[in-house]
Amino acid sequence: MPLPKCWPSFTKAKGPFDHFLDKILFMNEKSLYIEAKELIESSRHITVIGHLNPDADALGTALGLWSVFKELPKRTDVVFLSRPLPQYLAFLPGFEKIRHSVNPKSDLIVTVDSGSFDRLGIEKPADAKIVNIDHHRSNTGFGDVNIVEPEFASASEVAFKLVERAGWSVKRDSAINFYAALLSDTGFFGYEGVNGRVFDFAKRLLELGADAEWTARMLRENQPLSKLRLLPKALQTLRLYLDARVAGIDVTASMLEESGATVNETDDIVNYARSLATVEVGFLIRDESDGALKVSLRSKSYVDVCEIAQEFGGGGHIRAAGFTVYDLERKVLKERLLKRIEKEL
Ligand code: 5GP
Ligand code: MN
Repeated sequence: MPLPKCWPSFTKAKGPFDHFLDKILFMNEKSLYIEAKELIESSRHITVIGHLNPDADALGTALGLWSVFKELPKRTDVVFLSRPLPQYLAFLPGFEKIRHSVNPKSDLIVTVDSGSFDRLGIEKPADAKIVNIDHHRSNTGFGDVNIVEPEFASASEVAFKLVERAGWSVKRDSAINFYAALLSDTGFFGYEGVNGRVFDFAKRLLELGADAEWTARMLRENQPLSKLRLLPKALQTLRLYLDARVAGIDVTASMLEESGATVNETDDIVNYARSLATVEVGFLIRDESDGALKVSLRSKSYVDVCEIAQEFGGGGHIRAAGFTVYDLERKVLKERLLKRIEKEL
């Protein structure tokens, strides 16, 4: 089955129900939130899970929701399949409670920040229902209930909207997690999509006990040495293409080994490619342990990298997207990618 196209954005949508997300935005938004609340409240054992190689949004949103659900009369687990988890995010409250497998007894899976089911790394549950909470415009709508808000800056914003609508109480631990998720996915309130609603959300989280300075410090100044050791090796590989409108960086298995860095320590290196004055699209190609190549794409102001990533089997957002390939050499992949990017410049 072909993947659905990225949701074309509010202003460009042709009409209701061209895409499953239209249902949320044009018609049925209130009842979807109520459906999710009812499924959650009537379940006995919830598993909250985010995507493989989680970032601060996936971890913060999952841990924030887990803290909320803990107060409800049911069992709740928080699960990420990846091991090891990024240790620089170990400051997130509840991090040490994360499990690495889904308890088969859970009757409801709440997924966060995951645009497609395969990003979770788990088998399709036989009996459990799925509530899909996300903000990726490439979301495939794999849940029984899909709350996907592509205009939202972080998955934590979607989760918080559900929590508020459901009337569940938010403690300080949740506020810290949701705030870290927001700060990270907005590039510290610098990316497109940051608006008054985002600052209202941030303000609510600060009122609920999040600490702005501490969270920013933990996200930025809590890095392992291996990450800084990897950076110059990666930057040495930076090449410019297409009249310097594109910049690409390579991260190889041997660079990871020499620096002692884990794969999630490459997370923001692609931003250096985009940061150059002439560059519209930055990409990073990283060796995965299973021989696959993981590509991260970032654009500055006009190229839709979500659409490009989808054509290679991935997805994401308009200015940040990614995909993984299993059957291409780095050189061939790079050629194909550059050819595809060129069409958008
Ligand atoms: P990153 O490049 O930081 O891994 O990802 C950028 C954005 O694209 C994130 O929102 C991430 O969830 C999404 N993304 C990255 N890789 C994939 C992928 O293989 N499939 C999908 N659907 N989304 C991806
Ligand atoms: Mn996110």
